[in-house]
Amino acid sequence: MTNVLSISGISKHYGKIHAVNDLSLEVQPGQVFGILGPNGSGKTTTLSIVLELVRADSGTFQWFGEHPGKESRKRIGSVIESPNFFPYLTAALNLKIVADIKEMDYDDIDRVLKVTGLYERRNTRFRTFSFGMKQRLAIASALLGNPEVLILDEPTNGLDPQGIAHIREIILQVASQGTTIIIASHLLDEVQKVCSHVAVLNKGTKLFDGKVSEVLSVSDCFELGASDPVALEKWLHTHTDIESVEKKNGIFQAFFKARITPADINNGCFRDGITLTHLSERKRSLEQHFLELLEEKNDQTP
Ligand code: ATP
Repeated sequence: MTNVLSISGISKHYGKIHAVNDLSLEVQPGQVFGILGPNGSGKTTTLSIVLELVRADSGTFQWFGEHPGKESRKRIGSVIESPNFFPYLTAALNLKIVADIKEMDYDDIDRVLKVTGLYERRNTRFRTFSFGMKQRLAIASALLGNPEVLILDEPTNGLDPQGIAHIREIILQVASQGTTIIIASHLLDEVQKVCSHVAVLNKGTKLFDGKVSEVLSVSDCFELGASDPVALEKWLHTHTDIESVEKKNGIFQAFFKARITPADINNGCFRDGITLTHLSERKRSLEQHFLELLEEKNDQTP
């Protein structure tokens, strides 16, 4: 299968700042691909490079297995800046102007207005739109011509919870029709809810990439104590699903790779003659897990 996007060793400096550092990644057809990282991690710069708005210092990228050019650009829709339309014109008229610029006919305008939930408001002037509606109109304009790839940079920035939910529904609906979607976001929750795949960036460098279910999976953490701590420690270290064990003030914190219940632990210890004096389950939030991933990698960076 030909990749939709292949990035190979891209770097970009702004003075002394390494905005993007030797970045490689691949996006395959049908994926909802999240580029996740804190502010300043190089997400917008990466998207700007692959959209040919900014030139990389080094490295290459291909769209649909070919060098980027006019043909590939026609197959991509993007929203990378704040929505900007003619304030005194209606949503429909603004989309007609976009269609003219893209040299498309007007057949697709009603469809994209419906997909983004703006059809009923098509004859309303842009200036009266809420921020969420403006954002949806920007997505509508990117969807004109039904592109194979939709690129969104921080699509829910500044939106209220209802606006965020609406954008999420649109993304999932567009993805369900087979469109490949690339989203830059600093919100772990957003990536987790809509993306199938993710690349985690920090300071311009890719830390991880892969399936969201694998990269952002959360292991369960238990706090345990026993009348015989030596036996408990040995038991934990030999458990097939153990990820790591830490000891704090006589209590063990055990992280497991697979789903495990308190009953599993209790039964296992009981079978091996260990009496637990303390057992509590502690879920790490995804947010916490993401921060831990960033920290671990920072610690390993020379
Ligand atoms: P944010 O979510 O805050 O936009 P980001 O992950 O998209 O962050 P970028 O906008 O790509 O990150 O910025 C990466 C780094 O490059 C930052 O340190 C930023 O200050 C710097 N940078 C980006 N554009 C420019 C520019 N035109 N001139 C100078 N520095 C820039």
